Amino acid sequence: MTQPSWQDSSYGSMARAALWLEAEVGEGNIFTKHQLREAFPDVSQIDRRLRDLRSYGWQIHTRREDASLRQEEQRYVRKGAEVWLPGNAKAKPKASLTAAQRSKIMSDDGFLCRSCGVAAGDFYEDGVSTAQLDIARKLVRLLDGSTEVQLVTECNRCRVGGRGRTVDLGQVIDSARSLEPLEKEILAGWMQRDRRSFGDLEKLWAAYRALPEESREQVRNVVLGEEESHVSGSASAMLW
Ligand SMILES: [Zn+2]
Repeated sequence: MTQPSWQDSSYGSMARAALWLEAEVGEGNIFTKHQLREAFPDVSQIDRRLRDLRSYGWQIHTRREDASLRQEEQRYVRKGAEVWLPGNAKAKPKASLTAAQRSKIMSDDGFLCRSCGVAAGDFYEDGVSTAQLDIARKLVRLLDGSTEVQLVTECNRCRVGGRGRTVDLGQVIDSARSLEPLEKEILAGWMQRDRRSFGDLEKLWAAYRALPEESREQVRNVVLGEEESHVSGSASAMLW
């Protein structure tokens, strides 16, 4: 589907600003406030409309997020929801969350960054900087095909890095559905504990892997031997 023109004044200012970013700036590129105002001389609050796009998953960095930018520069990092399409600009999440809403989301997320698993105040692997948790907006493609902004706890590093632009809920559910029963059981266990734990299978594998070859062979003989006799057993049972 082709995008409408950013000059089409039948769209709202925010949608036009989004279309302008796509058509004139392009992901990853820098623009200035001056260029933005020049493109929209008739819209008095165009800076603000552009900022509003962040609520729809658009990532636009200023000097605050990207120290390589100059004062007047901003970088169009990632596209968000296609706000020019009917329905996509509705249900705007509140621009600012109350303290109670923030702590509810963080509590639901176990006070962990959902992208990398770091907890507030933990050191990153560099051993120098500590993690700060914040609320990030994620674009989620729902089962009916529409896109919605949902809120999730992320550390500052992951939030700025903007991992995963749109999450496809249907794809995740389909993959989970197509798992073998044993795999599904293991996944369900991780979900209930909200962490990936090492089950008996992984522990056994680690113990086997660490054995000297003579001993590995012995274990193999037992496991593979039993597998074979099991298969031939059931095969002969079928023949009967
Ligand atoms: Zn993180």
